[in-house]
Amino acid sequence: MAKQMQAIRGMNDILPDQSGLWQILEMTIRNLVAGYGYQEIRMPIVEQTELFKRSIGEVTDIVEKEMYTFDDRNGDSLTLRPEGTASCVRAGNQHGLLYNQQQRLWYMGPMFRHERPQKGRYRQFHQVGVEAFGFDGPDIDAELILMTARLWRLLGISEHLTLELNSLASNEARAEYRAALTEFLRSHEADLDEDSLRRLASNPLRVLDSKNPLMQDVLAHAPKLSEYWDNASREHFSQLCARLDAAGIAYVHNERLVRGLDYYNRTVFEWTTQSLGAQGTVCAGGRYDGLVAQLGGKATTAVGFAMGLERLVLMLELADTLKVPAPVDIYIAAMGEAAELPATQIAESLRDALPTLRVQQHCGGGNFAKQLKKADKSGAKLALILGEQEILEQTITVKFLREDKPQATLSYQELLKLLQSTEF
Ligand code: ATP
Ligand code: MG
Repeated sequence: MAKQMQAIRGMNDILPDQSGLWQILEMTIRNLVAGYGYQEIRMPIVEQTELFKRSIGEVTDIVEKEMYTFDDRNGDSLTLRPEGTASCVRAGNQHGLLYNQQQRLWYMGPMFRHERPQKGRYRQFHQVGVEAFGFDGPDIDAELILMTARLWRLLGISEHLTLELNSLASNEARAEYRAALTEFLRSHEADLDEDSLRRLASNPLRVLDSKNPLMQDVLAHAPKLSEYWDNASREHFSQLCARLDAAGIAYVHNERLVRGLDYYNRTVFEWTTQSLGAQGTVCAGGRYDGLVAQLGGKATTAVGFAMGLERLVLMLELADTLKVPAPVDIYIAAMGEAAELPATQIAESLRDALPTLRVQQHCGGGNFAKQLKKADKSGAKLALILGEQEILEQTITVKFLREDKPQATLSYQELLKLLQSTEF
């Protein structure tokens, strides 16, 4: 027998029994962002490698070790996008969407990172990203956070999520802090683990991110970023907090939240959960006022977030808050060859009359018992049966598959009335 092919490790099929939940999640998100007036943008999945190097930063986990980078046939270095913000800014600059304008944009799609696959961490995964350009105040930061909080309410998972917030302040303030932190870490070099030593040399702020409890002990005495905040950033942060307070959104100020990408300044935030083990960050974002200019555009302020759909799906499966409907409302069975054509005609007429109704017609023949078994398995609420008697009398028999109700024999008009008044 020929050898069966397998998908690439860390790249998942989303099977029919999962796609219903994905569709509800995606639809909820589409309606959510539309409700705030955001417009969709779709970018290519492949970009020049340089785009990600210049935006995410050379000494970040993503660029150092996670990108799918290859030479195409022309010898150009291309990369499967590891995230969406860089592409979104590239597109905005290229098409003149950003300069002197305000834009509220969102996108959804696959991202690629060569990481060790585990629960909630894959090599192809899906993000929804939301980005707002041309706004510099805390009002838009608050809008984005309110939007995410609304999503958790819509999905019924608010109680499992915590908002962590920090400010990375201005580039100047951060540089001063970086110097102070570096000095502190140097004086504790003997206590640092290998990862932290590496980060100390390349990107010292990332040491704050360490998950190693021993590092946490060392860091307990490190200088605090908020001690170095510039006044404007301090004001921005306190106004954002005031807006969240007014909206009744709880948050924790996490001094060590620095995020893994280089482009952030001022506000950064993460929504985290305890229910997914180590892969606890479901949604993360922040302000990146310098990136548009860094990628060759005119300076434009920007803020955004991205959320991981696989992690949300895992949470939804655990919380079991959403009901995924069966794929079929009505199953049409035809008994005997003479009934098959009329059955197709009725199926098509019903699809004309009630376009949202999901009508499945039995195909492949078989006896009454077999067809009804299929009808039941389909999850349909009703089975419509056409046999010799029904053809003769121009009627349709309706069997209620989910209710204890006697079957009914109806004319087509009566059937339509019944379907119109039934909740599917
Ligand atoms: P982590 O700390 O878990 O590696 P990250 O900081 O690398 O996350 P971001 O780059 O901020 O993640 O991406 C935003 C969101 O995308 C994450 O919060 C997470 O929900 C999701 N995400 C990131 N990497 C993966 C992955 N490899 N598999 C599944 N989801 C992911
Ligand atoms: Mg990561």
